[in-house]
Amino acid sequence: MAFFSGLKKIFSPARTAREESTGKIEPGEKVRGRPRVHVLATGGTIAGRLVSTGPRYRAGVLGVEALLDAVPALRGLADYSGEQVANIGSQDMDDDLWLKLARRVNELLDGQYTDGIVITHGTDTLEETACFLDLTVRTPKPVVLVGAIRPAGALGADGAVNLLDAVSVAANPGSAGRGVLVVMHGSLFEARDITKVSTSGFPAFAAPNSGPLGQLVDGRVYYGQRAGLSPKRPFFDVSRLDKLPPVGIVYGHSGVSDAPVKALVEAGCRGIVSAGVGSGNLHHDVLAALANASSRGVVVVRASRVPSGLTLRNMEVDDNRYGFVAAGMLNPQKARVLLQLVLTRTRKPEEVQRMFDGY
Ligand code: GLU
Repeated sequence: MAFFSGLKKIFSPARTAREESTGKIEPGEKVRGRPRVHVLATGGTIAGRLVSTGPRYRAGVLGVEALLDAVPALRGLADYSGEQVANIGSQDMDDDLWLKLARRVNELLDGQYTDGIVITHGTDTLEETACFLDLTVRTPKPVVLVGAIRPAGALGADGAVNLLDAVSVAANPGSAGRGVLVVMHGSLFEARDITKVSTSGFPAFAAPNSGPLGQLVDGRVYYGQRAGLSPKRPFFDVSRLDKLPPVGIVYGHSGVSDAPVKALVEAGCRGIVSAGVGSGNLHHDVLAALANASSRGVVVVRASRVPSGLTLRNMEVDDNRYGFVAAGMLNPQKARVLLQLVLTRTRKPEEVQRMFDGY
């Protein structure tokens, strides 16, 4: 496979006498010579447990201490500490929690006592949180999101090994300057392109356009080649924001109605992302409703419901004429994240497009 030819082992943290100790430290404790990784827990299946009645399992049950205690091998990789930020199924993730997470990550990494951060997260919206943090955390230090698709106690539970891999990446100086990363099922991904591709099977995640950034084998990370982050990549300082502009998504399909577009405009959305068909194409009724929304100052971004490929300007839709923005490589849910942030700065379609092109 071509991918493996470019693999290079960057660094594996040396094992020290402290390996025999617990490895656990207080947040902010300084231990010389060992990477210090702080784990922020938010819930999801990685913190889930099988239950005997009702639904088969519940997400967001186990606390961060239980997650860390379940993986004794962590002590061979880093000194680590944990913090419970939330304990939810990630279908309940929202703007408030995103803003809180971004502030906490920036605060920890601006300080001198944290070398890397791991965020445990439900897999349903993990890609959106990864994208949000990628755009709102400015640090060369590693920030790594991780989840699991099988809860503790299930046959083939994947949480412990995924967490071990994530800490390994966060503890590794070779992970610096790569933006926010995601580790799942032995693969390492950039935040921008990763998406959940299976509700139930392995691997549950893929980066359909760019592929994985690296592989994990026995807790060691092997990076592939990379082009590097775009110097035009936008950054949004959310330290003083307490809410984000409302942006909705409309889904394209045969026989689609324009009612959802009209409802979003009526509800006061400042932006609308279209998950269009093919290369972001729009039924003529939906096109008319979006053109009308755009003329009233709602920023319209065209993305596609198709899992891979790009949505480029002026292919079949005349974006110039309607003042639309093309999402490029971003899927609809990530285009929504970026649009929320961009709208804190501008509503001008050409400036919005510039920021989309830079990411
Ligand atoms: N729906 C839950 C969540 O996203 C569980 C799914 C999972 O983590 O895989 O948190």
